[in-house]
Order: sequence, then C-alpha cells, then structure tokens
Amino acid sequence: MAFLAVVLGPVLLGAVFVGATLSAVDRNRSAERLGLAASTVRTSVDALCQQLRAAADAVALRTDPAARAGAAGQVVGRGIAAAVLVADVAGNTTYVTPGAPPTPWHDCAGAQVADGPVRAVSARVDLRDPAGAALGSVAAAQVVDPAFVGRLAAATGVGVTLLDGDADRVTFTTETDGVRETVLAATGEQVIETPDGRYARRLGPSPGQPLPLVLSVAGEQPAGPPTVLLGAVLLAVVLAVLAAWRLGRVTTRPLVELAGAVDRVARGDLTARVPVRSRDEIGRLAAAFNQMTRETASYVAALTSSRDQLRGHLAVLGDTLASTHDLQRILRVILRSAIAATGARAGAVLLLDSGDVLVGRCAEGLAGRLPVGEPLRVPVGAGVIGLVAATGEARRGRVEPADAPAGEPRCETYVAVPFAAPAADAAVGVLVLYDRLGGAEFDDDDLATLRTFAGHAAVAVENVRVHEEAQRLSMTDPLTGLWNYRYLRESLRREVERANRFGRTLSILVLDLDRFKRVNDSYGHAAGDAVLAEFAKRLRGEIREVDLAFRQGGEEFVLLLPETDARGAAIVAERLGAALRDTPITVDEELAIPVTVSIGIAVYPDHAGTGQEVLDAADEALYAAKAAGRDAYRIAGRRSDAVAEEIAVPAGPASPEDGLPRAGPGIRPMAEGTGRHATGASRAAPGVPRPATGGASSGPHPPRQSRGR
Ligand code: GH3
Ligand code: MG
Ligand code: MG
Repeated sequence: MAFLAVVLGPVLLGAVFVGATLSAVDRNRSAERLGLAASTVRTSVDALCQQLRAAADAVALRTDPAARAGAAGQVVGRGIAAAVLVADVAGNTTYVTPGAPPTPWHDCAGAQVADGPVRAVSARVDLRDPAGAALGSVAAAQVVDPAFVGRLAAATGVGVTLLDGDADRVTFTTETDGVRETVLAATGEQVIETPDGRYARRLGPSPGQPLPLVLSVAGEQPAGPPTVLLGAVLLAVVLAVLAAWRLGRVTTRPLVELAGAVDRVARGDLTARVPVRSRDEIGRLAAAFNQMTRETASYVAALTSSRDQLRGHLAVLGDTLASTHDLQRILRVILRSAIAATGARAGAVLLLDSGDVLVGRCAEGLAGRLPVGEPLRVPVGAGVIGLVAATGEARRGRVEPADAPAGEPRCETYVAVPFAAPAADAAVGVLVLYDRLGGAEFDDDDLATLRTFAGHAAVAVENVRVHEEAQRLSMTDPLTGLWNYRYLRESLRREVERANRFGRTLSILVLDLDRFKRVNDSYGHAAGDAVLAEFAKRLRGEIREVDLAFRQGGEEFVLLLPETDARGAAIVAERLGAALRDTPITVDEELAIPVTVSIGIAVYPDHAGTGQEVLDAADEALYAAKAAGRDAYRIAGRRSDAVAEEIAVPAGPASPEDGLPRAGPGIRPMAEGTGRHATGASRAAPGVPRPATGGASSGPHPPRQSRGR
C-alpha cells in the first residue's frame, strides 16, 4: 500500500496537472481564435456598413425623386446594396427598390434594433434640400441570410450563429444542430465552454456591428479528460498494482516463511529450514537462519550425546562405587570416567606403595608412552607425578620433549591431581591424564573438575581398603594374627575342592597345646596369651608359603597343607613338636614356659571324603595323641577302616628313619588321658560304636575349647 501511495500519488497529481494545463492551453488558444474572429467579423460588418453608407450617400445626392429612384436602381443593379429605401421626415416610406427585404432593417449605427429575426443590415443617411432642410432619409441595405452568415464563418474560420433581435433564439447558424442551442449560453464577450467541448462568445449588437452574433469554435481537445492521459494513468495504475503485488510477494513471502520457521524453532523443532531464493538481504537472512538452526541442532546433538555418555559413565561409576569392593575395577572405572570427562587420550592412576613410591595401578592408552616392559613407578617428590603426591597440589601444563620427566609417560599436555579424600592429610595416590583431544591444554575447569572427582574417587578407594581391612580382620584372630575359625571353614571347602579337582592330597593338622590350663593357672592369663601368640609365630615359621594356619579357638590350632600327604604332614607335625619342645617360650624376657603340643593328622582323600569328615578325623587323631600321653601326633585311620587306626609316634627330636610315623602301641605309653585313651582304644576295637562326641558330624561345629578337661 505504501508503494502504491508513493508511486500512484505523483502519477495522479501529474495527470491532473497535465490535464489542467492542456485544457487551459486549449481554452486560451480557442479564446484567441474567437477574439481574432470577432475582430474579423467587426471589420467585415464595418466595411459592409461603409459600403452601404456610400450607396445611401450616392442616392441622397439626387434632389429629384425620380433621379433618386434611378440612382437607387443603379446601386442595386451594381450589387453595392441589396435594396434602397427612401423615407420622408415622418419616417414613412416614399420609395423602395423592388425585391427589398422586409423591414425593419438592422441599422449599422445600432440605434434601431428590432425584436424579430434579422432580415437585413442597413446604413442610413439624412436627405436634405439644397438649403439644408431635412427632407427625410435614404437607407441602403444588405440581406442577412444563411449565405451571409456562411460567408462570415468562412471569413473568420469559426462557427457563426445569428440570433434574432431579442437574442434568445437562433436565426441561422453554421454549427450543427446538436450544438446550436448550447451556444446560447454565451451571454457576453466572455468566452464560455459548452458541455460539448466548444468555446463560444457573443459579438454585438453594438455600434458599427448591429448583428447579434455568437462565435463558437470547437476545442482542439475532445470534451472531458484526455483519453491518452487517462489511458496512461490507468496503465500506470495497473503496472503499479502489479509491481506492488510482486514486490509484496517477493518481500513478504520469505518473511512469512522465516516467521513460520522461527515459530517452529521456538516450539523446539530444529529441523525447520527456510528456502533461500535470492542473494539479497532476505536470502542472506534465510541462509543465516538455516545455518543457525543447523549449528544449534548439531550442538544439541553433541550435548545430548555427551549427556548420554555422562549418564552412562555416572551409571557405571555409581554402580561400581556402590556395589563393588574390587579395587582394580573401581580404579579402572574412575580412570575411564576422568578420561571421558576431560577428553584425554591417556591416563593412569598411581597409588602409594610402601617405601614412598607411587605405583601405576591402572592405566589407559599408555602403550608407546613408556619403554616397553617398564612398570610405571615414580618416587614421591620426583617429576610431575611425584611432586603432586608430595605437595598435594594439582598441576597442569605442557611438557617440552626435552623436559620430559624420567620414568613418566611421554606426553604433550598433562593434568595431575592428588588422589586424596577431602579430609585426609596426605594423598594416597595421583590421577594423571595426558594429551587432551584436539591438542589444547587442559584448562582450569578440567583441573577443578578432576580435583573434585579425584576427591570422591579417593573416598571410594579408601572405602575399599577399609572394607578389605575389615574383611581381613573378620577372618583373622586378633591375638595371634592367624586366620580364624570362620576362614577355616571357607578355606577347608576351597582346598578340598581344589585337591579333588587336581587329584591331589590335602593334609589337615589339628593342634592342641598340652595342659594349657596349667600355664594360665601358673603364670596368669596374660602370659598364656603371650604363649599363644609365640606359638602362632613358630607355627607360621614352620610351614610353607602356601600352607594355611588357623586358630580354631582357645589353644587349638589347625593347619591346612595343600598337596601334602600323610608322610609330609607327619614331618611337619614332628618339626612343630620339636620346635616347641626344644625351646621354651619366653614371656616378658625372663619367664621361660615349657609348652608342648599334641597333633592329630588326617589326609584328604585318604581318611575321609569331605572336608568336615577329614577335620573330624584329624580331631579324633588328636584325641588319640592326647590319650597317648600328649606331646605327640597321630594319623587318622584309613578311610576304608571302620575305625581310626591309631598310630602312636614317639615325639622325639628325630624323625623316624624312613620319615614315616610308626604305628602301634608300645612305642610311647599312653599313660595319661586314660579316658580318651579308652575312647581311642574302644575305637580300635571293632564293633564298638563310636561315641557321639567324636563322631564325624557333617555340619560345622564350633571349636571345642575344653578338650582334655
Ligand atoms: P589338654 O589339652 O592337654 O588336655 O589340657 P588343657 O589344659 O589344655 O585342657 P583344656 O583344653 O580343657 O584347657 C584349655 C585351656 O586353655 C582353658 C583355658 O584356660 C585356656 N585358654 C583357652 N583360650 C585361652 C586364651 O585365649 N588365652 C589364654 N591365656 N588361655 C586360654
Ligand atoms: Mg589343651
Ligand atoms: Mg583344648
């Protein structure tokens, strides 16, 4: 609309101006032509009047009426006038030439203007006698007819209309019928414009021009507004409307599309695109919008995937930290999460080992960064990692190849944070990441994130360690440091299973200190504890690395010797007995307490088919040893036997020559513990039912604390 107003306003104004100018020019030119015609008419009528006056003068010169009639006839005959009329003083006609037009005639002097139609125009002179007395008058006339008017029109080049005497009716006209009435509107010498596009003006009657005439001329412009101009304006309007429509379409359509796309984006649809149709500002706007939505969509996709990744890592991290006490797995998850969070290429977690050395416990992507086969070990205080552990301060930066710290992985950029729980004094390790993807250095945000993360992770690691310690404590005996009864059950099951699977033997030794109650009674309970601790120490000293020592309860101990048969077990039993017997246990550095031990031995699968049965068999052998007088060991009877075969072995410093315990009574008298000896003896007797107490119960049972009482 604005475009239309701007374009059409000047066009219409110009058209009006041109139209007005054209009509003004036309009017002026027509007025000029009419003015020219008027003076021509005046001159012609004036000349006619002069001619008529001269004719009347020529007739009036004759004094004799007959001569006057002759002169009048000559004047008419020569065509100088159409008629001559002589009147007396009273105005009565005394002579008139034949064929004269009917009176009244319009006098050139303009004095006599008759009302009726104009028939003739005349000039009158006075008729006097030689003395000068008035005799009347002589008038010469010219006929006014359509031919006369036509001659006037031809002489002036305009339309001439003759009105009648009172000037309200047309007598003759050279104009066509249609316009004859319209020229009547002209009342004065002012030029008027008739509705049919003519210009007209009155002329006369006036002195010298007695005829009431209207001169009219057709305008050069057709009536009404000029058609060419109108056509041009119409064309301009049509063109302007078309241009406005096109312009509106070109301008507003992309804007409408853009607005629609913006609405879609506002509703969250980032697939919205706008067609780019041109290279102008709108086209550039559309292209920029498309690029903006594309970029936003890719950002959103990246954010979503990184959020999903983060969720995945968080889930794994949460699950791992919450459910596992597997330190290695936790360290791996911690390292992977840290790598994913910072976009590092490689990394490692080092934990403080004994002796102020950090040892790599978990690593990712370190292949090729360390010499092949060399473990990641960094002394505290050395290099980047050692410094972080020593100072507890996180570090980040870039490493020039020349300054690479020895023993640490090669890298370009690194960030290393201490692995310390928030409340802890010292770092338990270091989390270090190398070479951020993209080559940029790790920034302060990475550092802060990692420091917080490492703090939480260190808590998790600490928890695992605490848990491990608690687990260890729950399975060890605090007084002796040996495994406890609980762990015995688990180990027994495991070792029996292993022996079974690999077809190996497993020896079980049940040990009970002899007359220990007396030790307590004689030296006090504390001394008894010290004896127990020292015994445990000697026990450990006498067995192999793979052997397991347990305190079953009180002063009863158990040894599990994998891959050991009865012969080997007997050697161990013998060695143990000797180790105790030969060296009394010193308490408080002065009190030497002599202690001996009785040992029962059973071997899987020789003596029983299950762990518990083997343990029971060893227990029974112990009874036998006690019964045999203590400070001795016994091996359980063969499995095929209904009852244990008790073999009394002398508990001496030397092993039997063949290393095998000697069976049978007599070697060492079973003087004490007759009750148990009797039990053992009764067991030796076939057919006698075994007592319930020594039975091979299948389920676990608490260790007996009061054997021998
Ligand atoms: P034997 O086995 O030779 O038949 O005689 P014993 O005196 O060792 O007999 P019993 O098994 O009846 O006695 C075990 C004693 O061990 C009872 C208790 O005073 C003592 N004892 C058990 N546990 C502990 C302990 O943890 N510390 C100390 N100091 N003494 C303990
Ligand atoms: Mg005892
Ligand atoms: Mg006991």
